[in-house]
Amino acid sequence: MSLQTLNKWSVWLLLGMIGAVQAAAPIPVGSLRLVHDREEYAVASKSLRPGDTVVLADGEWRDFELLFKGEGKPDRPITLTAQTPGKVALTGRSNLRLSGEYLVVSNLVFRDGATPTGEVVSFRESRRARANHSRVTGVVIDRYNQAERMLSDHWVALYGHDNRFDHGHLVGKSNLGTTLVVVRDAEQGLDNRHRIDHNWFGWRPNLGANGGETIRVGTSHDAASDSHTTVEDNWFEHCDGEVEIISNKSGANVYRGNVFKESRGALTLRHGDGNLVEGNVFLGGGQPHTGGVRVINRRQTVRNNYFEGLAGEGFASALSILYGVPDSPPNRYLQVDHAVIEHNTFVDARSLLFGAGKDAERTAAPVASRFADNLIVNTDDRDPLQALADVGGIAFAGNVQSPRASALAAKGISARQIALTRAASGLLVAPAAENAGARRDLRPLAREETGVAWCAKDAPQSRLDRGSRHEVAPGEGNLERAVAAAAAGDRLALAPGRYVVERVLGIDRALTIEGPADGEATIAFSRSTLFELRRGGELRLSRLHVSGELAPDEAGNAVVRARAGSGAANTTLIVEDSRFSALDVNRAFDVVALGKGTLADLVALRHVAVENASGAVIAAHAETDDLGTFNIERLEIVDSQFRGIAGAAVDLYRGGGDESTFGPKLRIERSLFEHVGGRRGASLVMHGVQRAELADNRFVGSAPVRFERTPGSAAFLAARNTFEATPAIQSDIPIETLQ
Ligand code: CA
Repeated sequence: MSLQTLNKWSVWLLLGMIGAVQAAAPIPVGSLRLVHDREEYAVASKSLRPGDTVVLADGEWRDFELLFKGEGKPDRPITLTAQTPGKVALTGRSNLRLSGEYLVVSNLVFRDGATPTGEVVSFRESRRARANHSRVTGVVIDRYNQAERMLSDHWVALYGHDNRFDHGHLVGKSNLGTTLVVVRDAEQGLDNRHRIDHNWFGWRPNLGANGGETIRVGTSHDAASDSHTTVEDNWFEHCDGEVEIISNKSGANVYRGNVFKESRGALTLRHGDGNLVEGNVFLGGGQPHTGGVRVINRRQTVRNNYFEGLAGEGFASALSILYGVPDSPPNRYLQVDHAVIEHNTFVDARSLLFGAGKDAERTAAPVASRFADNLIVNTDDRDPLQALADVGGIAFAGNVQSPRASALAAKGISARQIALTRAASGLLVAPAAENAGARRDLRPLAREETGVAWCAKDAPQSRLDRGSRHEVAPGEGNLERAVAAAAAGDRLALAPGRYVVERVLGIDRALTIEGPADGEATIAFSRSTLFELRRGGELRLSRLHVSGELAPDEAGNAVVRARAGSGAANTTLIVEDSRFSALDVNRAFDVVALGKGTLADLVALRHVAVENASGAVIAAHAETDDLGTFNIERLEIVDSQFRGIAGAAVDLYRGGGDESTFGPKLRIERSLFEHVGGRRGASLVMHGVQRAELADNRFVGSAPVRFERTPGSAAFLAARNTFEATPAIQSDIPIETLQ
């Protein structure tokens, strides 16, 4: 049926049959062409007239750089759609560009690849040829990531004006770059009037760097002008990329009716004035770093929002009002002036922070601002209100706090015992007579109203131990074969005995390798690496003995390694009830070595013993560019013993003053360090660690613990550690006592 021209009524019938009719979209009245390959598309798209529709045939379109160009009319747009929603997949090196007026694109899927350019969906062909009054709806972009994690791209880039991106399903962006951006400059368009609505922004893992925003509207350069972009009725679910879930960098934008579910970071009014944040629902579920709204600049309004269970602090507080930089350059922090924060409900928030970010540069207190008629309830009796500095420029009035009022503002916050009830909306509401707080009829948007009905909204989860168990017997090649054959989440159960491994075991799935409950399984390996973590890899080692005795006589061996450029990220590495020995055939033999650009969300050693290593136990010091990046978000060592380690037991580095990330965090408890760190000059190196906790550890004949602070906040807490023939801790911040 290719290149057929049908009359208006058959078009309508056919579109009805293929399910491509958008409820609100005008009925096309032009020609309808079903195309099966790139050549047919090229012919069909050459002379599109208002009302025309091009339909991509079901199937996989690989390495297809789609340019959709035409001049539609308000009542007769030009449409590009899928024969069957969800059945047209753009894969490999594919992307989409729109250019012209009144274009509509719907129901496409991008998966199994990455854009060859800087954008997957772009509302422009070139700097001069943009799309206006155009719409992209019902498009799925699913883990469409560059192989190199720190290679940047944007999944959706809105240029021009009066464009709409709606009902998108965007999930699993794990490389550098904002998921959806509004690009603004005098040439690309400043008065944008875009609408971004009913999208499902699914999980976005921690990037561990700046550039992991889910939405950004503008840049600091043109932030003094108004964009008039509306972001409404979207879901943000596990959008954990960085401290800014949304980075607003322009004026007169509206954020309304969105749901933020268990997302780390905050909606940040970073640059630009006169923005409105209204009727949003933030649900933190008590998860770490879940935040609400961060206020900077002038005339920002935050009203009738609902915040529940947000455990974030600092810049990821349920509410943070920042200090500004006097006479701030556009890219720093304008003083908060005329902010209005009213009729919001905060339930079980960990922190509402007034005067956040005050430091040597940010010295300008908020002025002429108002915090009124808000309801703050903490069922655990905690007072979440914190003032780091002078809040005299904020007028407090009509606020109610339960069970007791904060001392932060003597007037303007009354204590009252408020009994909340869970309304049909799912939100907690105060008795009807209560004036403070969000409107009682505020309802969170239903999740099903976002994204597309034909694609399941999957939550991320560690897949460790979700598969089946396979028994492995000792013998040459058995472990290699079992690893190669294992499915994601499988457990390999090793019988007692000796396993000699003669190739690098690539780990690109979640895999558990465990020894027997009785007896010992020993793995000896003859390559420079035993396990290599790759993209998608997660590893749990349990009840094993790993020996380095057969490793090559070369510098730089490692038991577990993530190579630079491998794309290994957001990985979990758990080692428990295991021991490592004879890692000293040559120098710099590490237990775990993480290369540049790799990131582990969690590395945990529990009941682990390491004896005689010429390198480090945990070598995580590859990010030396001082851009705020690091190799481990959270490191946990408990009940472990390290003896005869030439390098540091932990060598962790995060440099620079960037404030976009939360890690690294480190906790070491009940562990022994005996003759550790001599060659490195330190038994533990914590450079730029954000929070370190050391408790009940014993250091014997070891080099000192070293804590090196970098700009920004940092905390070092310790208790009950003992040091025998070991110098005192060297720290350039005061050590607090761990409770
Ligand atoms: Ca950012």
